[in-house]
Amino acid sequence: MEEQPRSRPKVTKSRELRSRIAVCADRKVFGKSRTAYATNKARRSVTAIKEKKNSCSNMSITKVHARQIFDSRGNPTVEVDLYTAKGRFRAAVPSGASTGVHEAVELRDGDKANYVGKEDESRRGMAGRNCDSAPSACYQLQRALDRVSNAVKNVNEVIAPALIDSGLTVTQQKEIDALLLKLDGTPNKGKLGANAILGVSIAVAEAGAAEKGVPLYKYLGSLAGHEGDKMTMPCPAFNVINGGSHAGNGLAFQEFMLLPTGASSFTESMKMGTETYHTLKKVIQAKYGLDATNVGDEGGFAPNVAGAEESLDLLVEAIKKAGYEGKIKIAMDVASSEFYKETADGNKYDLDFKNPNSDPTKWLTGVQLAELYQKLVEKYPIVSVEDPFDQDDWEAWCHFTKGTKVQIVGDDLTVTNPIRIKTAVEKGACNGLLLKINQIGTISESIQAAQLAQSSGWGVMVSHRSGETENTVIADLVVALGVGQIKTVEVDLTIPLPLSKRYNQLLRIEEELGENAAYAGDTGLSAGTTPPALLKK
Ligand SMILES: [Mg+2]
Repeated sequence: MEEQPRSRPKVTKSRELRSRIAVCADRKVFGKSRTAYATNKARRSVTAIKEKKNSCSNMSITKVHARQIFDSRGNPTVEVDLYTAKGRFRAAVPSGASTGVHEAVELRDGDKANYVGKEDESRRGMAGRNCDSAPSACYQLQRALDRVSNAVKNVNEVIAPALIDSGLTVTQQKEIDALLLKLDGTPNKGKLGANAILGVSIAVAEAGAAEKGVPLYKYLGSLAGHEGDKMTMPCPAFNVINGGSHAGNGLAFQEFMLLPTGASSFTESMKMGTETYHTLKKVIQAKYGLDATNVGDEGGFAPNVAGAEESLDLLVEAIKKAGYEGKIKIAMDVASSEFYKETADGNKYDLDFKNPNSDPTKWLTGVQLAELYQKLVEKYPIVSVEDPFDQDDWEAWCHFTKGTKVQIVGDDLTVTNPIRIKTAVEKGACNGLLLKINQIGTISESIQAAQLAQSSGWGVMVSHRSGETENTVIADLVVALGVGQIKTVEVDLTIPLPLSKRYNQLLRIEEELGENAAYAGDTGLSAGTTPPALLKK
């Protein structure tokens, strides 16, 4: 009788597991195979053993992979997948439209052939200065065609091997961020790109939180030195009217926001904000027609208003009609670098900058623009003004901040950079920081920037960028830092309102915190020389 071939015994999962544990526990195995180093077969076996050893430490980074994805405006951006034994941790990087010249470098391929014959100055904060007729459209087209394949390559070919070889674990956020800075070696992250670096930094934080078995906001809070169970939920800043280079209307100022400071919780602030948003929609449609409620880049309406006063009148009317007079305040992001002009007659601000035939005799000096802001602050319930002057017009900043009673926020001025923040503190140029994680490029530096601003008595508003992704890390970060202010909203066609995945994440966090959540209201805002009330707690 012919002998049947013997079937190979099955290797069960538990046996495989036992073998992996044995490899980890018994370093002698490594030693025994040393004699076989000479052969290729043995080399492969040693590599396999090393891999098994690595797989035994949950905290080790086993793989990092980046790819190009698209942000909420349809422009290329970087996404990073980071692997540990606990699984895959994904982070995508936001991207801004009105970028400050002093920001860390968002590395783009800069393929001039794809720029329809335009120079690539706009992505260095020069948007509007070199595209005479339609700055916003010109900028958008350039950005849409400008890929991030070099940043992706830097993650995959430079950062990934260095990070894995370093042996650093995912809970060593500071050390990993320091390694990323060292690998880049430039003061503005110009070699690897802040977009490459930030993708990895966020993914490491996500993995670190999983390793510790805590939600991301709690983990980031521990990195920021937060103690106790109580955490501060931020007052949201709903961007509801858009102008500037984010909208095709004639309005120079970029954003008009609603701040439900009189709410009792973050959940209630969302109710008040959305009700007022709907009311505003009706108010605008009644005055300007149905198509006036088309939304701008960041989800706000872009009605064809003549100027700031007309926009503020619309907001005041909507707040009143929604029944929240006194409970909802207003903030503006002027983004004035977009309409700042250096002329033979001195530095000027052109409020009609989207008109190619703008009349230079109507352009304002810094002092005249400050007077305009002062009038608006006196007439309307404005509590915060962001980037009222150009990012290098220090004189105008100091002049205005000296006499104001509201929060003056640096965005393009300070670019979340500790050196710029220190200079602004010394000069008394502003009393608030807009914190954008991609302006600086790592989680650790973002925490440092917030703490530096707070130690100077400033308010801090954590902000999204106009090009956002599925990533909601800033929602967790604002709770972790306890700064009490956030602005984030973007157009999202999957939900009926231009609300934000980040606001939804905050609703989840507030629910999870329960009685340990305290809503900031207006306590996160600075007011002239008075620091935010929450800093006194
Ligand atoms: Mg801004």
